[in-house]
Amino acid sequence: MVNVNSKELHHAEQSTQAKRQNVSILGATGTIGLQTLDVIARHPERFSVFALTANTKVESLFDLCMKFTPRYAVMLVESAANELSDKLKTAGSTTQVLFGEEALSEVAAHPEVGIVMAAIVGAAGLHSAIAAARAGKRILLANKETLVMAGSLFMQAVAEGGATLLPIDSEHNAIFQVMPQTRGKPLSDAGVTRILLTASGGPFRNATLEELNFVTRAQALNHPNWVMGPKITIDSATMMNKGLEVIEAHWLFDATAAQIEVVVHPQSVIHSMVEYNDGSVLAQLGNPDMRTPIAYGLAYPDRLESGVSRLDFLKIGQLDFAAPDYARFPCLRLAYEALDKGGTAPAILNAANEVAVEAFLANEIRFMDIPAVIEAVLATSSIDTVASIAQLVSVDAAARVQAKSIMSVLKSTH
Ligand code: NDP
Ligand code: MG
Repeated sequence: MVNVNSKELHHAEQSTQAKRQNVSILGATGTIGLQTLDVIARHPERFSVFALTANTKVESLFDLCMKFTPRYAVMLVESAANELSDKLKTAGSTTQVLFGEEALSEVAAHPEVGIVMAAIVGAAGLHSAIAAARAGKRILLANKETLVMAGSLFMQAVAEGGATLLPIDSEHNAIFQVMPQTRGKPLSDAGVTRILLTASGGPFRNATLEELNFVTRAQALNHPNWVMGPKITIDSATMMNKGLEVIEAHWLFDATAAQIEVVVHPQSVIHSMVEYNDGSVLAQLGNPDMRTPIAYGLAYPDRLESGVSRLDFLKIGQLDFAAPDYARFPCLRLAYEALDKGGTAPAILNAANEVAVEAFLANEIRFMDIPAVIEAVLATSSIDTVASIAQLVSVDAAARVQAKSIMSVLKSTH
């Protein structure tokens, strides 16, 4: 269960008039990072940007540093950090530039930081998210891959570090908003019977299996409702995104796979629902704009103006629902199976998916090869009990090697 300790609540209650909170944004140049900065810029009296990080995009991070004057900027790669540092010095900025994976963890765990937005994409976000958890930060978790890869160890780090974990993924943020705080008790004790995880169905909701074999990269990148980074946009098209979210919900809310049901809802207005044993279903609704969950995470338990336009029910007119189709979207089935297998299976699923999505984005494999690669990697990997982060990192690396070797066979047969 998502952990909100009383110290944090007390702190947050006092925070309205208190001094500004320092925020580190990991993955600042991405779509979530930029939307976080958009919300922060609306509330300069509440938040101060402490650190901004990126992978390689020097120009983007330079512009953000000039606008938000963070104490630190971190680039993953040293040469990019040197370039950024030179540019900032020339422009008269006092932002200090660091580089490397360890520096990401340092700005996530820095004693002066209150809030960490974990918005790096993929398994690359794992170490810095764990560092924030161990350091007892308020973690705004967008990086779902951390929970898929290392859910048990991450939740343990959150509990041991006394961190406050606020889900940013819109569905999980919705569930959090309508879920009772059961503080470690089973969901059934709070009368919860099911989590209804809504899914837009992505750009290929109505495509036939035959058509799915030939969809292009451009078609897959054209999501109907959300503007997101390329990896999650492809995940939405294959519905692996919903699969990853099932696993994410399992860890965040202590829910079994049987308690999490995916409902296709093309309008993306209901962001998810919780069903209770008295027949009540509580939902959170809003326009599909990530600034709502981001503002919720930043201000919790307060509410903040986020810049999101009001929901106009009369304009929407109608809300539709359908069952997911596992034949056309095998990634969703594979994720349920990995959750069921447990242990290192979700980490293997995640790594194989990242490699397959990269290859699809590079036009190296076809759309329906993505689930085929993941299924083959899972079938040929041994699944072990989770023991440590180091073990998961090597499981992740081995699954990537395996995925690449399976793809080289696939490519030669195309
Ligand atoms: P983007 O691709 O837009 O941004 C990713 C960010 O991570 C960029 O700042 C990028 O830097 C940085 N980054 C990429 N690789 C590395 C690496 N190896 N080491 C350090 N930093 C790296 O992704 P999104 O913002 O769309 O998504 C971020 C996370 O949030 C994902 O886990 C996604 O699943 C999740 N999420 C996103 C939603 C959305 O609406 N976008 C909704 C729900 C969840 P650079 O710019 O230099 O490449
Ligand atoms: Mg989501």
